[in-house]
Amino acid sequence: MIQPAHFDFAHHGQSVANIIRQVIGDSDELVPLHEPEFSSSSWTMIKDCLDSTYVSSVGKYVDQFENEVAAACSTRHAVAVVNGTAALQVALIVCGVCADDEVIIPSLSFVATANAVVHAGAVPHFVDSNAYNFGIDVVSLQNHLHYITERRGKLVYNRETGRRISAIVPMHAFGHPADMDPLIDLANDYGLSVIEDAAEALGSTYKGRACGSIGQIGIFSFNGNKILTTGGGGALVTNDDELAKRARHLTTTAKVPHRWAFEHDEVGFNYRMPNLNAALGCSQMQDLGARLKQKRQLAQQYADAFGEMSAVEIIGEPASCSSNFWLNTLRLKIKDTTYRDQLLDLLNDQKISARPVWTLLHRLVMFSHCPKSNLSVSERLEMQLINIPSSAHLFKSLHS
Ligand SMILES: *Cc1c(COP(=O)(O)O)cnc(C)c1O
Repeated sequence: MIQPAHFDFAHHGQSVANIIRQVIGDSDELVPLHEPEFSSSSWTMIKDCLDSTYVSSVGKYVDQFENEVAAACSTRHAVAVVNGTAALQVALIVCGVCADDEVIIPSLSFVATANAVVHAGAVPHFVDSNAYNFGIDVVSLQNHLHYITERRGKLVYNRETGRRISAIVPMHAFGHPADMDPLIDLANDYGLSVIEDAAEALGSTYKGRACGSIGQIGIFSFNGNKILTTGGGGALVTNDDELAKRARHLTTTAKVPHRWAFEHDEVGFNYRMPNLNAALGCSQMQDLGARLKQKRQLAQQYADAFGEMSAVEIIGEPASCSSNFWLNTLRLKIKDTTYRDQLLDLLNDQKISARPVWTLLHRLVMFSHCPKSNLSVSERLEMQLINIPSSAHLFKSLHS
């Protein structure tokens, strides 16, 4: 453990900046964390969509995009929706999460994970992550559930709050797969649904299976900062015919299919992805393979460049997994927020976008009253992790 007192912050910070510059090259403009990239087919497909006049949620690009997303993660179904948060809300509802249930989610996640739980009428229950892949720590969750739950028939209740616990939402942080097998075993043991927040993990695999396809249902985001974008957008994926059917129905105003009648059989959502966004999505899907390759190579260049440095570690992919390397992440060996913030200032001053992980969700004002486990690892990681520029185009092939 490096002691802050014996450490030359400024010198060290500049070394980190120099190494990043060695990989991404010099520039006068701010280098963003993650930029969207478009090919000429985006223009063609969007023009074709406009020419067709089908710009809203009916149209051939929505069907094509859903087929391509399902194919990319080898699931039977994909349902394209307006964003990842809406996808997660609907995933929770179709998996049977009811009003006033508790849903287990990592505190170390983007705010949308917790928002979606509340939008579904439930209460987030925050648990700790591990320092290896930044996903939910299964051993600590097992102990926590053992300690706080009580079984009533087939259902599981939080003894302290009296609420039912009905689902668990693992999140694949920065594209690195969480350890799904033990988590699913634990969820089965407690009768909990598993909904994967794979918003950041399109193209990542866990033991050969696509992230998003491993739980009952998984969701992706196609926001502008994700690995592929539809402007705004999201999708649910599942192998379960009933869940897919119900998700499609609920997100399409619960309209009963008919040639002309407006018949609706429950309170639905207007959440389907517009054809215009899906056209952009179809063009983006053509680039997925190449993009994954570039991002892997960029991550390797960072790994090589940071290899010698003892005070920071660049995060690699977990064993038996393939990461999409959505955001490259440094782990600072010094656990000190002041040091972290000095480094972030120095990098941003030098036009290198860098940011800490999200403020832990259990400390956000609207979630501070929610139930939680011991979160000591997440609290440590919050001081240590920073994301650095990760756009695919930053990879410069030596041969190009
Ligand atoms: C981006 C993201 C979401 C939500 O996606 P939106 O499309 O922005 O609604 C959910 N969870 C995680 C972990 C994300 O990174």
